[in-house]
Parts: sequence; structure tokens; C-alpha cells
Amino acid sequence: MSDSTVVTRIAPSPTGAMHIGTARTALFNWLYARHTGGKFLLRIEDTDRERSTEAAVQVIFDGLSWLGLQADEPPVFQASRADRHVKAVDEMLARGSAYRDYMTADELEAERTLARAEGRVVHSPWRDRLPNDGLDRSFVVRLKAPLDGETLIGDQVKGAVTFQNKDLDDLILLRTDGTPTYNLAVVVDDHEMGVTHVIRGDDHLNNAARQTLIYQGLGWTPPVWAHLPLIHGPDGAKLSKRHGAQAVSEFADMGYLPEAMRNYLAKLGWGHGDDEIFTDEQAIAWFDITDVVGAPARLDWAKLNHLNNHYIRLAEPAQLAALVADIHRSRDWPLHDDHLAVLTHVIPFVRDGAKTTLELADATIFALKRRPLDLSDKAQEMLNEETRARLGRLRGALASAATWDVASLEALNRAFAETEGVGLGKIGPSLRAVLSGGSPAPDLAGTLVSLGKPESLGRLDDALSLNG
Ligand code: GLU
Repeated sequence: MSDSTVVTRIAPSPTGAMHIGTARTALFNWLYARHTGGKFLLRIEDTDRERSTEAAVQVIFDGLSWLGLQADEPPVFQASRADRHVKAVDEMLARGSAYRDYMTADELEAERTLARAEGRVVHSPWRDRLPNDGLDRSFVVRLKAPLDGETLIGDQVKGAVTFQNKDLDDLILLRTDGTPTYNLAVVVDDHEMGVTHVIRGDDHLNNAARQTLIYQGLGWTPPVWAHLPLIHGPDGAKLSKRHGAQAVSEFADMGYLPEAMRNYLAKLGWGHGDDEIFTDEQAIAWFDITDVVGAPARLDWAKLNHLNNHYIRLAEPAQLAALVADIHRSRDWPLHDDHLAVLTHVIPFVRDGAKTTLELADATIFALKRRPLDLSDKAQEMLNEETRARLGRLRGALASAATWDVASLEALNRAFAETEGVGLGKIGPSLRAVLSGGSPAPDLAGTLVSLGKPESLGRLDDALSLNG
């Protein structure tokens, strides 16, 4: 591995849900690492000990694993690195780029009021005292930030962003209880993890300026920054509850496939010409962080549904069968031993119209039903003397069918209708009714083939023997 190898990371805080904004950030970091032949790392920012439960951390692991975005190394837990953070502050104290601030709460409050009145940031009188001016009382450690000049963030997405140093205060690095603050921990961890590119939401752009000053205080080189625009709802407003799903797990529960999510999230802020649909390999080959657009991306459900349908039509039937079986199980649908075989067989016949795997599951119910079927009232109404007699004759024709595929059965049905001297419309509805029990089902031949010959004939026999 050369020194110039790209290292990216996703650094989520475990809050109980994994927001799709975090998923998109993870995807862009992953794509960029894959594109450059670099590494994609995961750091769990678990310094908020109350929120960072094991369950909340698991949500992140599950979210990334569902999305198919595996980190290249085991996760780094920020809270476990507190001694490293403290050590870095010791170095800064030694270098003179940090100082102990012994201001009392009252003194700080008075300085705050004064600073506000004078339109400037807070200054501590301890900034310019010698390090050994310490008192035997509690202190925080602050960054000795430059008082004037500018801090420039050469952002790969936003362009050059300039911060006036006089607006950046001497931020706290260690609290009175000796615990490290957020910006310090991020800098020390990113540096020690070898992160070369920090790609994250633009709500962290201000932090980039503060973190740059910490890098300078430590004598380290800051990473390349790339701040992504936030994801907005379809109406252009910041994404919120009223726009519907926000958590990765909600998209999974709504029946979206991870490959559709990857394609869709890649399009939120990045694109390759007019290409709407692309494989992971294509996205990896094409992705460059400098092509991300600076304007907020809008969630578009119609596009997501379109993509999901595309990937549902592309997926292996056996893989979809397992997903659909889980959905039926979660709905307490009584599955039988052969359900996976039935589902794998039927899915190619019913998937074309499905926007989600939930819709796909609905479309498979007719095939999972067990004989004798419970006919819906509407299905029963289709059965009168005339249709029964005709179905009886059709049963005979079907029983002697030599081949059981869509083309042959379409031909058989047409020929049968002709012999009967009626249109297919006189046969289709009642046949569908007895085959499906009234549940949604594919076209006639598709239904017959997806059920198979013995099951189709059996369902016909059951219906014809109804009420004698
Ligand atoms: N933990 C931060 C968050 O979840 C990310 C920090 C970073 O990417 O630098 O928003």
C-alpha cells in the first residue's frame, strides 16, 4: 500500500436509527474508496454513553450490512480511544497550541456577556499565561486558535470556503472532567486511522474549520474535505417525519432492495450523465467526489419505485423467494414446507408489476393457498351452471395437454374458446376465479403454468365439485 492510498470513513453516532443521509454518506465514501483502490473504514462515534447502547450500535452494523457496504477493517469505537485523545491534548499543551483555562463558571458567564456586547468571540485571560500558571482548581483545556487571518477549506464539493479566524473561538478540547470533546476526538481518530478524505454531510462544514485549526495545532496535515448537501423531501424542505421513511430499516421494511437503494442513493447528489440505472461496478468506475453537486438532493419516491421494480425484475427468483417468505411469515401467513419452491417458481410470473417486495408478496398469495381453496364471494358468483359446464369441458382439454408452458396453454385456451364458439372473455374470469380463489393472479396461461398441472387440475376439480 503506498502512502497516497485513499482512506475514507463513515463515522456515525449510534442514535437508534440509521438515517438515509448517513447511508448516502456511507455509499459515497465506499464508492470513492473502491474507485481509487483505497480503503473504507467505519468508526462508531459512541462518546455519548447514554445514547450509545449496544442495540443502537447494532442498528448501524445491520444498516451497513443490509446496504452491502462493508468496511475494510473492524470498526473503531471512539469512546475506547479517550486516552489517545488526551495524549494528543498533552502534545498540544507541550507545543503551546493549547492551554489550561481556569475561568470559573461566573467568570466565563461575565466574559460571554461582554463578548456578546462587543460582537466578538469569548477570550480567556488564561490564553497568554505561562503553562505553569496553574491553580489547584478545575480547568478545561482550550485550543489556542489564531486571533486573525483566515482558515480556508478547499472543499471538493463546495469549492473554497473561507472562515475568518476572529469568528472562531478557542474551542474546548478537554472538559473539566478530563473527557475529550467531539471535534478533538474526530481529528485524532481520523489522523490515526490514516483518513485521507473526509466525506460527510454539509452540516459539518463549520466543524471542518475548527478541525483544521486542531490539525494545525497538532502539526498534522488536514484531510481532503468533501461536504455533501443534505437530502431534502420531494417538496424541497429538509427531510423530516412528514415526508415518510427516513431510516434505512424503514426502507427495508417497505420492501426496497439494497441494490435499488444503492443505485437510488448514488443518484442523490451525484450522477453520470443521464444514466438512471447502473450497476455497482459502473458506479465504482464512474464515481468521483468532485462530480457531486452542491445543491440539496430531493427524495423522489416515483424514481425509487421505478428502480426497485427494475431490480426486482433482475433479481434471482430464489433470493426474492426468501425475502417474500419472510414477509409472509411476518404477516403470519401459514407457510408450508414447499413454500420456497412454490415462490421461486411463481415469482417470475408475477414480478413485473411489483414496485416493492411487499407488493411482490401480495402477488404470490394465490399460489401459496392450499386446496381446497376458500373462494371469495366474487369468485363464487362466477360459477353458474353455464360456466361450470364449460370449465368441466376445459378441464378435459387441460388434462390432455401434452406440454405445460405459456405458449402451449395460450394456444389451448384460444382453441378451446373457438370450439365453444365464445370469446376468451367468457372463459377467463371463471377459470381465474377457481384457480386463484379471487386473489390477484397473472394472466390465464401464466397462472396455469405458475401453479403447475396437477395443482391447476386439482383446483378445478375442487371448484367443480362444490355444491355437488
Ligand atoms: N458522528 C457524526 C455524525 O453522525 C459524523 C462526524 C464526521 O463525519 O466527521 O453526524
